[in-house]
Amino acid sequence: NLARFPFVKGLAAFEFAYQPSLDRKQLTSLAACHFIEHGENVIILGPPGVGKTHLAVALGLEAIAHGYRVLFTTAAAMIATLTKALHEGKLDEKLKTYTVPRLLIIDEIGYLPIDRQGANLFFQLISRRYEKGPMILTSNQSFGAWGEVFGDRVIATAILDRVLHHAVTINIRGNSYRLKDKLKAGLVR
Ligand code: ADP
Ligand code: MG
Repeated sequence: NLARFPFVKGLAAFEFAYQPSLDRKQLTSLAACHFIEHGENVIILGPPGVGKTHLAVALGLEAIAHGYRVLFTTAAAMIATLTKALHEGKLDEKLKTYTVPRLLIIDEIGYLPIDRQGANLFFQLISRRYEKGPMILTSNQSFGAWGEVFGDRVIATAILDRVLHHAVTINIRGNSYRLKDKLKAGLVR
């Protein structure tokens, strides 16, 4: 698992019937990986458990099948790595880890608060990949809340400006798959 996926599940394992807000055709067409050729980003938004990571991994697997180098990271792990590199005077070198792969997947933007330095490092990475390095980003927070996520509205706006310039956004509005059986049994609502 060179891409460092947290699990390996493809589009075939995704039950579209459980997530009717999703456009299956859109995902099938993304699986052809033209967005990578065109340097476009895919942003997957939605609450916990709706399949954001699953879909990001599935598209990552398709990219590998098309011969692209892929790296999967969470926002928190990437920021921790870059922060450490900064303190060790190795930032330029470490940024390459995240710029060299043709497709970079950054999962879980918004779960953990990002400090000012972290936001700055995130911005530097986004700037370097801008218009040449396609990314898949996932977040539980709507774009309007990214100011709070990055602790700074100006940096969040600069990040979104670049990310959204060439991007497809997928909004998942369904129930958590993790709670599927509990929802069915009426244990939670
Ligand atoms: P998120 O990243 O949105 O929190 P995940 O992608 O991690 O959610 O999904 C949680 C678990 O449920 C994973 O094991 C995933 O494979 C599974 N899952 C989520 N949605 C679906 C679905 N529609 N069909 C099949 N499995 C799903
Ligand atoms: Mg996830």
